[in-house]
Amino acid sequence: MGIEKTDDLKVIVSGGTGGIGAATVRLLAAGGAKVMIGDLADDAGEKLAGELGENVRFHRLDVSRPEDWEAIVAATEEAFGGVNALFNNAGIVQFSGVKDCTPVDFRKIMDINANGVFYGMHFAAPAIIRAGGGVIVNTSSTAGLYGVASVFGYAASKWAVRGMTKAAALDLARDNVRVCSIHPGPIATPMTADLGDDLVASQPIARYGQPEEVARLVRFLLVEASYSTGAEFIIDGGATTGSLEPV
Ligand code: NAD
Repeated sequence: MGIEKTDDLKVIVSGGTGGIGAATVRLLAAGGAKVMIGDLADDAGEKLAGELGENVRFHRLDVSRPEDWEAIVAATEEAFGGVNALFNNAGIVQFSGVKDCTPVDFRKIMDINANGVFYGMHFAAPAIIRAGGGVIVNTSSTAGLYGVASVFGYAASKWAVRGMTKAAALDLARDNVRVCSIHPGPIATPMTADLGDDLVASQPIARYGQPEEVARLVRFLLVEASYSTGAEFIIDGGATTGSLEPV
């Protein structure tokens, strides 16, 4: 009873009303997956679930609250008869370097981007094991692969996601649960709406990625990447590959 095709999925998508989250919800739902959208955005969540039919539900989720995770995992088991996948996607960004990032800012971004990913794995993993195994995809960033001066707290949180992914992958491998991280570069979503095209002008593929391109990678990891665990998947238009500038 492993996951062999999209319609085998019973998946929770955190941040499922945002740019990458909603694109993934739509792609998985189109393939027949059962999808539980978890997000703070009640109206957008109810609307998206209503639009996509009875295989897609919404449950309010603040990823920084362990009790919310406990509730959404229970609600998903109740609605779909189990949970076999989690896309830990919710996140926020803060634009500040180490001097300007206040302790309050830092605690907040770690609470959502890092603790939220931990809570998701902590509460979903036992349910996934009960379902016979499955997959967790955690959202890091290219900022979880190298340093980025202008987003200090964000980079810290995304490095934490990368590290937690590897530790959890090892811990859960013999339970038949794979855990991978994705590392997007600039993707055209509400999160990057104000950043402008200068950000992508010098990278090899000189455009923003589309949320649907990330959704296809997530579907691949959930459904097809049966020999990958603890692995990092970069989707960044070549940004971390190197520079096109002559040496
Ligand atoms: P987005 O702002 O469009 O979506 C984020 C979603 O997370 C929203 O629906 C928001 O309501 C939800 N959210 C925020 N705080 C939450 C909380 N406490 N509990 C539950 N939900 C919460 O952003 P996006 O670009 O789609 O980002 C999705 C993920 O991808 C994030 O983890 C982000 O860091 C990561 N990422 C994005 C980019 C990019 O360029 N857009 C690049 C690398 C990584």
